[in-house]
Amino acid sequence: MVRPISAIIDTNALKNNLKIIKNIAFKSKVWSVLKSDAYGHGIKNIYSCISYNSDGFAVLTLDEAIFLRKNGCNKPILLLEGFFNKKELFFIYKYSLTITLHSKWQLNELIKYKSKYPINIYIKINSGMNRLGFPTKKIKKIIHIIKNNINISKISLMTHFAETTINSNFIEKQINNIKKYINYHNFSCSFANSAAVLWHKYTHYDWVRTGIILYGASPTGEWKDIAKIKIKPVMTLKSKIISIQKIYPGQIIGYNCEYYSNKKRKIGIIACGYADGYPRNINNKTFVLVQGIKTKILGNISMDMIVIDLLNIPTAKIGSSVELWGKNIKIDDVAKSANTIGYELMCSLSKRVPRILK
Ligand SMILES: *Cc1c(COP(=O)(O)O)cnc(C)c1O
Repeated sequence: MVRPISAIIDTNALKNNLKIIKNIAFKSKVWSVLKSDAYGHGIKNIYSCISYNSDGFAVLTLDEAIFLRKNGCNKPILLLEGFFNKKELFFIYKYSLTITLHSKWQLNELIKYKSKYPINIYIKINSGMNRLGFPTKKIKKIIHIIKNNINISKISLMTHFAETTINSNFIEKQINNIKKYINYHNFSCSFANSAAVLWHKYTHYDWVRTGIILYGASPTGEWKDIAKIKIKPVMTLKSKIISIQKIYPGQIIGYNCEYYSNKKRKIGIIACGYADGYPRNINNKTFVLVQGIKTKILGNISMDMIVIDLLNIPTAKIGSSVELWGKNIKIDDVAKSANTIGYELMCSLSKRVPRILK
């Protein structure tokens, strides 16, 4: 028997989510964000499923971009941080990739490279997040330098928002900061991430860049914030009960005697642990689903196993299926109990968990 853990990728949910994104941002084109192995879902799986309906794909690394081209992708591909090394420029031109330009050193390398072929550039504006990008007051000058020194097919403007909440006023501040220095309406603009797509519609402009809602989790980390939008979780992490134990009052469970039982109870051992990417630092109110019933995790998470309470699920047996996150147990809720966000859990899902398309 193979180890029973798997991540089921629901292709209908994925298509549903992209459709919802396209309805909400109906005036914009959509960069489907496939970085970090499509947020842990498997870039090949996700690409094959939404290639027909995305306007372009945004990735982080050259390898991801070349992988897409070699799998038949002839739509625009955006490198979200451009290049990290001038050696990448050869491949950027070879595979017609769109680059983000965020730093002076990149601009200098691009000028030195002197390609006779035109390139698409997204100029990254630091409008207030203070991570990547040129300061707003320098943008006009950067555009001038690009136009005079580089063979350009198109210049677009890009910024990234710091706040992912529903009632952000920082987003408006960031936009105003751009407006102060440049008439951005004269350019193709890509400003909105998932949060801005959902809750700040005036930021949509020409291209939006959606990651997390494509995969069916919340940009805020709170499932309730997106529950009404009909976005569906794409990944279900499931496994099985591989052993059942009976314990008696006064007995403990797992490493360091973390859980002490004051009653007789049936417990189930699940084939899933922190080496699979399940977070170890969850609080003691974290649930899984067995036979349609929510039940608690007991004691410490081990590298390869989790212990759950079966006190109220008498019919559970060896081989019973367990949902760790997915349609019923929201990844946002598990993440919250581990003091993190759905993004991190998705990206941390280990390689040893097979992804299965359904
Ligand atoms: C990852 C990323 C996105 C997608 O963000 P979501 O919150 O997942 O929609 C958008 N833009 C940039 C620059 C990114 O790095």
